[in-house]
Amino acid sequence: MTIRALPALLLGSLLFLASCSPSSETASSGKLKVVCTTGMITDAARRIGGEHVEVTGLCGPGVDPHLYLATRADQKRLKDAGLVLYHGIHLEGKMGDLLARISKSPREGQHIAAVAEAIDKEKLIRNELFGAYPDPHLWFDLQLWKTAAAAAGKALEKADPENAEIHASATRAYLAEIEETHSWALEKTAQLPPRKRKVVTSHDAYNYFARAYGFEVKGLQGISTETKPGLQNIRAAVKYIRENGISIIFAETSVPRDAVEKVAEEAGCKIYEHELYSDALGEPGSPADSFLGMFRFNLETIVDALGEKSGNSK
Ligand SMILES: [Zn+2]
Repeated sequence: MTIRALPALLLGSLLFLASCSPSSETASSGKLKVVCTTGMITDAARRIGGEHVEVTGLCGPGVDPHLYLATRADQKRLKDAGLVLYHGIHLEGKMGDLLARISKSPREGQHIAAVAEAIDKEKLIRNELFGAYPDPHLWFDLQLWKTAAAAAGKALEKADPENAEIHASATRAYLAEIEETHSWALEKTAQLPPRKRKVVTSHDAYNYFARAYGFEVKGLQGISTETKPGLQNIRAAVKYIRENGISIIFAETSVPRDAVEKVAEEAGCKIYEHELYSDALGEPGSPADSFLGMFRFNLETIVDALGEKSGNSK
C-alpha cells in the first residue's frame, strides 16, 4: 500500500473495504501496479521492482512494438496502472496517441514515464531517411540503456515512495550488471576482426549496437517495421552482400522472414540458423527471456556466425 493511497482508503466506504476490490493504482495485494509496453522495459521494471510491485508487460515475446495495438484489456490496464513505463521517441507507433493522452492527463495519483526520453537527444541516432524521428532502438547500446533503466528506477521510486530505498538499491545493482555486460560485449567483439563485423538483418534495429560495439549494419526494412522493404532495399542489400563477400545474414524473431529469404536467395548467401532478437524478448526459458540474456545471445550469435566458421572472404 502506498502512502498516497492511504487518504483514499480512509475516506473510502466500508463497502469498498468489504468488497476487497483493488484501488485503481494498487493491486489487491496492495502493491503498485506497473504497466510497461516493451519486453525490455518490463524486464527492467521486474528486476528493479521485484516482489514489491506487480508488473504487466503489454508486448510479449516476439511481439513487434512498432505495430502493436493496445487491446481493450490493455487500455483498461493502462488506465488502472499506478505507473506506466513506455519507451517513447515513437517506438510504440500504434500506441503513440494513447500514451500521449495518458501522459498529458494522467489519472490523479498516476505516474507515467517514457524511459528513452531521459537520454540526451545529442546521443540519439538520426537518419535523413526517417525525417524528424530518431532511431528508437537504443537498448542495444548498453550505455544508453543504463540511462533508460535508471529512469525506470526513478519512476518506481516516485510512484512507490514506501519502497523508494529498496528500488534505488535494486536500480544500482541492475545498472552495475548492465555495465558488466557492456565490458563483456567489448571484449567479445574484440575477438572478431573489424573486417568481419558486417551484419545484414531484417530491419534497422542495430544502429546503436553498431556504433557502440564497432559493427557495420544494414537493415532491409527501415527503423520501423511499418514500411515493408521495397525492391530497391533488396537490391541494395544484395549489392552490399556481394561487394563485402558476406556469406551469412540474419533474420529476427519479431519480423517476418520473407524479405531476408529473398535477399539470401538472390545474393547466394545463408541465413544464420539462430534468429536475432531485436524489439522483443524471447519465450520464457529461452536464453533471451531477460533483456541482458537477449543482448548476450545476440552478440554471441553474431560473433560466432561472422567468425572463423562463416568463411567471410573479406
Ligand atoms: Zn524495430
